[in-house]
Amino acid sequence: MRSNRRRLIHSVALPGLFVSLALSACAPPPDPPLPPALRGADVSLPADLRLISARVFPGATMASLLRGNQIGQSEVAALVARAASLFDLPRVRVDQPYRLARAFDGALRWFEYEIDADRLLKIARTRDRPLPEFVAEIVPIEKKSRTVTVRGAIGTDADSLVAAMDQAGETIDLSLALAGIFASDVDFNTDLQRGDTFELVVEKLYREGNQFAGYGPILAAELHNDRRRLRAVRFQPEGASAGYFDEEGRSLRKFFLRSPLKFEPVITSGFSGRRFHPVLHTYRSHQGVDYRAPTGAPVVAVASGTVVFAGVNGGSGRMVHLRHANGFESQYLHLSSIAVRSGSRINQGDLIGRVGSTGLATGPHLHYALKRNGLNVNPVAVHRAMPPGDPIPSGDALRFADARERAFASLGATALTAESGVSPPPEASR
Ligand SMILES: [Zn+2]
Repeated sequence: MRSNRRRLIHSVALPGLFVSLALSACAPPPDPPLPPALRGADVSLPADLRLISARVFPGATMASLLRGNQIGQSEVAALVARAASLFDLPRVRVDQPYRLARAFDGALRWFEYEIDADRLLKIARTRDRPLPEFVAEIVPIEKKSRTVTVRGAIGTDADSLVAAMDQAGETIDLSLALAGIFASDVDFNTDLQRGDTFELVVEKLYREGNQFAGYGPILAAELHNDRRRLRAVRFQPEGASAGYFDEEGRSLRKFFLRSPLKFEPVITSGFSGRRFHPVLHTYRSHQGVDYRAPTGAPVVAVASGTVVFAGVNGGSGRMVHLRHANGFESQYLHLSSIAVRSGSRINQGDLIGRVGSTGLATGPHLHYALKRNGLNVNPVAVHRAMPPGDPIPSGDALRFADARERAFASLGATALTAESGVSPPPEASR
């Protein structure tokens, strides 16, 4: 997963896959198919308790974990029964931490298991006789958040967003979050160049013991790319979910992404009314665009919608057909694999499949077609012409202005926080 995500951001060289246009050409699309906190430390430990802290081993169940720690059979049974009322026991996950406290006579006092990054299963003994009895609860793992400023620059030793973020002491998750914010305006694989800078304010989450536990949302971001400055502020309009907006309060989320491919979207065959078909050797129209891309490259939904068809369809090979709002439909042909099912809802940017050469195609490429009200349209032109995103509702204008002032004030601060750990880029920003 992670290596795939990394590929989205790093530029990918395509070594000689395409000798000529003809190699990556394809058949015209057919008619669309028919729709079908850990709080262990707050327990004061009497001197006769032994504390054990370990991780779930492969193949373990909760019962085998407990027996492996010399907990008696009757206690294991009572504990498992209590936990089963809250939690799906067969599914203790490999490598998740657990802790338990055991008296020297072997009696279990308490047991804690981290279900995931956010939830902790806690079980504590309440009674010894006549039978051991336990209470169980699932509690949130406590995290503290710290708001930090992170700055980076694209340069000779950091030639991608991921590399620059790494240099700033942050992880790929933050790169993906930043790329996601500006996805409609910037192709982070082809548009970034030396000298570009970014600055962002983000919440970092920490667990007990100052242990980094992931990022909260990016609160504000600024990107200097070529000669343009892009800014984003996170804001939650009344009655809607939080999103990112530019300084004028326009949503940064456009109806379409720039392209269904995350990197190097080079068009090898454009949309046209008349074209010589390299396989059929006839003149036929080309009702879409061919993007050159290597087999396996991720293909994502250009807009949110519903999967009308996902499967094999003659000369189109493995294909996905999506229906969107406003009368739009998009089709993705010749895929090597499909990641969605007919009838399911998908969001803009979701993986729908991978580039291939199935069907009537002479080499790996993506044929991408767009329809509006049933008619094929030139996707490149339509994507480019998309108007800016929806504006903030007027009732939210004052609240937005306030959020924006605060966000960009913290971006402008020159003092670096301890976490960001990188010097401001030369010629910084504004
Ligand atoms: Zn094509």
